[in-house]
Amino acid sequence: MCTHQPSCPTADRPDREAARVVASHPEQGWSRLCNGTIVFDDTGELLPGGEIVPPHRPLLTLIPSQPEGPLPTGPARGQSIVAFAA
Ligand SMILES: [Zn+2]
Repeated sequence: MCTHQPSCPTADRPDREAARVVASHPEQGWSRLCNGTIVFDDTGELLPGGEIVPPHRPLLTLIPSQPEGPLPTGPARGQSIVAFAA
């Protein structure tokens, strides 16, 4: 299937994703590699033999760009308890 030189990793190898993309459908969220593997945007894969590889790379998580502010302060309950105790 692959005509590249040097040839790309075959679909049964762990580095199959290094093969070149021959058909890209970003609007549908998948690409086909020259070794027949279909790679989905969520890093899941469908191998030529029909085997499914579940997503295996963590997706980026959003990190708050601003640190959280101080917790909202209510009435100083601790102080009033101390005052009642005293
Ligand atoms: Zn190739």
